Amino acid sequence: MTRRWLFADQLGPHFRVGRDGVLLVESRRALSRRPFHRQKLHLVLSALRHRAAELGDAAVLLRTKTYTEALEQLGEPVTVYEPTSYAAESLVRRLLASGVVESVDPTPGYTLPRAEFAQWAGDRRRVRMEDFYRFQRQRLDLLVEGSHPVGGRWSFDEENREGPPKGATRLDVPAPYRPREDDIDAEVREDLDRWTREGVLSPVGEDGPRLFAVTRREALAALERFVTHRLGSFGPHEDAMLRGDWAMAHSLLSVPLNLGLLDPLEVVDRAVQAYRDGSAPLASVEGFVRQVIGWREYVWHVYWHFGPTYRRRNALQARSALPAWFAELDADAVEAACLHDVLSGVRERGWVHHIPRLMVLGNWAAQRGYDPDALTEWFQTRFVDGYDWVMPANVVGMSQHADGGAMATKPYVAGGAYINRMSDYCGGCRYDPRKRVGEDACPFTAGYWAYLDRNAARLEGNQRMARPLQQRGRLADLPDVVAQERDRGSAAP
Ligand code: SF4
Repeated sequence: MTRRWLFADQLGPHFRVGRDGVLLVESRRALSRRPFHRQKLHLVLSALRHRAAELGDAAVLLRTKTYTEALEQLGEPVTVYEPTSYAAESLVRRLLASGVVESVDPTPGYTLPRAEFAQWAGDRRRVRMEDFYRFQRQRLDLLVEGSHPVGGRWSFDEENREGPPKGATRLDVPAPYRPREDDIDAEVREDLDRWTREGVLSPVGEDGPRLFAVTRREALAALERFVTHRLGSFGPHEDAMLRGDWAMAHSLLSVPLNLGLLDPLEVVDRAVQAYRDGSAPLASVEGFVRQVIGWREYVWHVYWHFGPTYRRRNALQARSALPAWFAELDADAVEAACLHDVLSGVRERGWVHHIPRLMVLGNWAAQRGYDPDALTEWFQTRFVDGYDWVMPANVVGMSQHADGGAMATKPYVAGGAYINRMSDYCGGCRYDPRKRVGEDACPFTAGYWAYLDRNAARLEGNQRMARPLQQRGRLADLPDVVAQERDRGSAAP
């Protein structure tokens, strides 16, 4: 048994330590080659350094320019778990050929091994999330009785789509787990400040107190707090947005999960136990289980299934560059209340929940025709839980429909009426969600019709878009809407 080289997203105990210990690497090139959010850099470095401190003598932590330099410095062969990106996989393959890496083990970071997904996908024409999720529930014996789902349905999505409670400015739930920073965080902050001053890094977004778990102990505490105090309220309002409540009842576990600190199975088992104890309702528990062993795992597998060129698919021929205000998270340039608040959230925390991502940021980008590959890169670097494998399916497949429907049956675009129903944004906005023409025309409402008009021919064969396309044909002022949105162009709304 040799030393195990663990990547920065393989930090929990289920990524087993080699008999001769562990190698952890802080590669300056990996940190600096993209404009990552400042807090993302902090979380990764803090997690790595905390793991090294926990392991003590069993860990060698090397700070080098590149991974290759670290391996040369170590001077002994290592074993690895499957890495989580094409770039890292190709590095590992080269190192395997040269004998520096002795073996590559299947990753324990997901419940289903890659080979088994390939078997499941077989020659299916489409690999749908719904089918995969059922397969996972049955295979893992989660919320099932025999071959039937508990409660008679596989999905309680319909119960989980409520807007925010009327008149509320916050959800009535206890606050999420908040970690306490320590000396390691202070050292990370100092390093990041210095490297930024020296021009080694050009991070985006603001620094701020650490909000997410980076150690096993913290991750377990965050899981426990969520399940005990917040899971019950999670389901009904999981799609709702309130400007005064960024976390709502979300778990905030994507960061520790994607750092490899929690085993996804222990996470869903704990949630199912809460249902069995009677401390959380089925709809909430099912919604959460779906996120973890359904969606998250599906996104992981389709990253490999669709191949490295998937993120460059562009079925709707969207070619606009991301404007500087969007790329640089300049929320102050934006007057539209929803986009302003969501972009501020990304700038301040590198995290907003799935609906602001999908129905505000993604919706906006689709309507304005942003290039899907550039947008994928933006989500990946600006979000604290973004990784190579996370964003292609979420952005190219789900939010931009750029894969022509290989993953989702319809584009996730909507006008201001959706945002108005699901949030408290519109009341305080200078735009009117009901208006599509004029100075106060909502850019999402007008943008929606302009999107349909631009993509009408490409979406024509899609059954689920038949009605919206028909409605578009009935709009007498459509030419005015289209001209207005063309004039608005890439300006911040
Ligand atoms: Fe957003 Fe339009 Fe509502 Fe303003 S009116 S908050 S731009 S959806």
